[in-house]
Formats: sequence, C-alpha cells, structure tokens
Amino acid sequence: MSTHIKGTIAIVGAGPGGMATALAAIRLGFEVMLFERAAEIKAAGNILNLWPPPQKILKIIGVDTNDLGAPCQTFFERYDGKQRAEVILPDEVVREYGGGFIGLLRWGLYKRMLDALPPGVLRLGHNLTGIHDDGAKVRLTFANGQTFTADILVGADGINSFVRKTLWGDEPIRHQRLHLVGGYLFLDSPPEGKGVIAHNRTTQVSYTPIRHDGKWGYEWWVLEACDPSQPPPADLLSFSRERAAGFTRKVRDLIDATPAKHLQRWEIRDRPPLKQWSKGRTTLVGDAAHPTSPYAAYGAGMSIEDGYFLARELDKVSLSDTEAVRGALQRFEDRRKPHTAQVSQGAFHTGRMFHHMPRLLRPLRDWVFDNTPLLQKFVGDAMPGHILSQLAEIEDAPPFRPAVLSAP
Ligand SMILES: Cc1cc2nc3c(=O)[nH]c(=O)nc-3n(C[C@H](O)[C@H](O)[C@H](O)COP(=O)(O)OP(=O)(O)OC[C@H]3O[C@@H](n4cnc5c(N)ncnc54)[C@H](O)[C@@H]3O)c2cc1C
Repeated sequence: MSTHIKGTIAIVGAGPGGMATALAAIRLGFEVMLFERAAEIKAAGNILNLWPPPQKILKIIGVDTNDLGAPCQTFFERYDGKQRAEVILPDEVVREYGGGFIGLLRWGLYKRMLDALPPGVLRLGHNLTGIHDDGAKVRLTFANGQTFTADILVGADGINSFVRKTLWGDEPIRHQRLHLVGGYLFLDSPPEGKGVIAHNRTTQVSYTPIRHDGKWGYEWWVLEACDPSQPPPADLLSFSRERAAGFTRKVRDLIDATPAKHLQRWEIRDRPPLKQWSKGRTTLVGDAAHPTSPYAAYGAGMSIEDGYFLARELDKVSLSDTEAVRGALQRFEDRRKPHTAQVSQGAFHTGRMFHHMPRLLRPLRDWVFDNTPLLQKFVGDAMPGHILSQLAEIEDAPPFRPAVLSAP
C-alpha cells in the first residue's frame, strides 16, 4: 500500500502533459489522481514527432520507449529537393536517439504512457468545473457531482484550459490562419531514416518515417495559409495531391499511396505566452501553459518535459508548507518559461515567415534561403540548441517501474 507521506497531486487532463506529470510524480512517491473529462483516452490527432529530450524523460518515468518510433535526420529543403538546412545534433545524441527526432503515430505514444500508469490513477469521465484553493488544500469539483481535495492541482487541460481561465481569466485564442492536413501509411520494408520539411512559395509539404506497433511507414503533412471563415476542403486527399504538385516524386508517391481514412485536418491556433502560470497551490503544464504550433513539432514534447521538471521541483519541498509549495511552483515555471516561450513563439514566427509574408517579398525570402546560411541559422542551428539545453537538464537515471501503488 502507498504510505501517503508525500502528499497528493491532482492532475486535470490526460494528454501527454498530464500523463507525464502523473508518471513523474508517481516515480517520486507522490499520490496521484489523474482526471480526464473524456470517457476513454483518445489520441488528439494522428501524426507526431518527438525530439530526444521527451524520449529521455519517457524512459526515466517508466514508459517503454523500446521501438517507439522511427528515428530520422531532419532536413529543410526547397520544393524540388534542393537542401536548405539540416538539423545537426552531436554524434553521441544521434547514436543514442537515432538522429533528430522519431516519427510515430500519436496513439502509439498515448498507449505506451497509459500502459505505464498504475491501476487506479486515471479517472475518466471527470470534467473539472470548479476549483477552490483555501491555502492548505485545493478542492476540485467535477460536472458529475464528485469532489476531491489535493495538495497541488496541475492544469494539463490543453489550449482551452479551464484551470488557466480560472487562475488568469480568459484571453481570445490566436488563430494563425494556417491549416494542416496530415496522413500516414504503412510499408513492408523499413523506410530511409530521413525526414524532409519542404516549402515552395506558399506551402509546406513534408514527410518523416514512422514506426507504429511494430510496423514501418511514413507520415506526411501539407501546411498552408487558410481563411478560418471558409469551409474546409471537401476531399483532403485531392487537396493534398494538388498542393504537392511540383514537390518531389517521393512525397507525391507517399500521398498517392495513403488510404483516405488515414487523413486528418487541423486549423492551427495558439496563444501568446502567459506571464505567470502558477497561483497558490495550482500550476499549469503543456498546452494549458504554452500552446505550440506544429511548426516546432515540440508541443507534446515540451508538455512531457514540463511534467518531469514540475515533479522534481515538488519533490524538494513539503506539500504541507504553503510558502515552500509556492516557491517550488515558481521555480518550476521560471525554469520552463524561457524555453517554452522561445520554442512556441519561434514556431509562430516561422509559420508567418513561410505562409504570411507579402507576395512581393516571397521571391526575395526564397532567394535568401537558397543562397545564404540564414535558414540554417534560424532553424537548423536553433533547434539543436534547444534540444541540447534540455537534454543537459534531465538527470541520467535508470528507467523507473512503479512497484506497489494504490488510489487514495
Ligand atoms: C496538427 C498538429 C501536429 C502536431 N505535431 C506535433 C509533433 O509532431 N510533436 C509534438 O511534440 N507536438 C505536436 N503537436 C502539439 C501537441 O499536439 C500538443 O502540444 C500536445 O497535445 C499538448 O499536450 P497536453 O497534454 O498539454 O494537452 P492535450 O493533448 O490537449 O490534452 C489535454 C487533455 O485535457 C482534457 N481536458 C480538457 N479540459 C478538461 C476538463 N475541464 N476536465 C478534465 N479534462 C479536461 C482533454 O480532454 C485532453 O485529454 C501538434 C499539434 C497539432 C495540432
């Protein structure tokens, strides 16, 4: 049985951020309640890439990362295959993590994280509707009429976070006026370990290898400006084929071979960085704190990092000491804010640069990307900087497997 000596952490939202926070806190001996409003866990989307820092954390917090995704090196190219930039990581990182990032299906990650959660931690069908912090405890009220108390509340409830709104009020969401169509397919043989992010004047058409449930394949996506007031394309496959005309044979073949049921579309939204995340005994992780456009391929990765660093800060204090808890939550967000703001705002501005630049300036932009090292500096070198800084902050610890746990 659990000894309850370290206090109780309530986490709201069982996406990657909430599940990582739960696993990281369990590893350090906290009692954890993970609340999710949905009746079952469903992956929010199909395609995903994960950089080395979240891979390292997943392993430490007890997630089976063996054969989790397909490793690849990432290149930025012009539509016709001319290389513009490369994400270069040190040899030892490439050796350990296989390259830049891994490609996988979202459900593959969710399933591995769910499998690592001890029974009794996840409570489905719990839609948070009320928060009361009396200084010593936080009381949570759910739409189903149930109430729970905890020492700490973690809002891992995504871009439209109820917890964030309760703490800091509501702000309008930022529509980036971009949309993305993503698809995937499986192959009989292992793909080449190369991921390509390619642009023409208006559109990004990209692909990376994937590994899912023991199967190899590819994921690809088409991203361009859109008018959110207009209806979405009726046929996503025809739309993607049309947009990929003029790109390399390789990506056109991938799109052609994709079953229509493996396609999905998203309009891209985020929010400007929040000045303060934590108040009293409550804090935020993941998209609730810093929603991130897919341009960084790092929103889920950063939410996993948040959970890990939050649990480590909480481990240094007694949860019954309100001032100490405030200090820990503040140290957590002070550590996380610069990194997450740089990545999320970098992703926002990269999207603007490629898709919302005035028409007359686009030829000049593309000439600069084709003939100078600017894109290499801007994306090829900046991303390794973020990756290495995070890897250095994560402890070198053996994988954790929870032994005996119970629900409170
Ligand atoms: C098209 C697209 C591609 C992307 N590609 C990548 C990528 O390649 N790599 C990457 O790292 N990131 C990527 N991202 C970003 C990534 O999806 C998000 O950053 C990530 O899902 C955030 O995780 P989270 O746990 O913070 O929030 P979410 O995944 O949004 O989870 C929030 C959870 O909270 C629950 N919830 C909400 N409100 C309540 C409530 N009141 N009570 C209880 N539960 C509640 C929700 O049901 C949900 O399960 C992409 C995003 C998009 C849109």
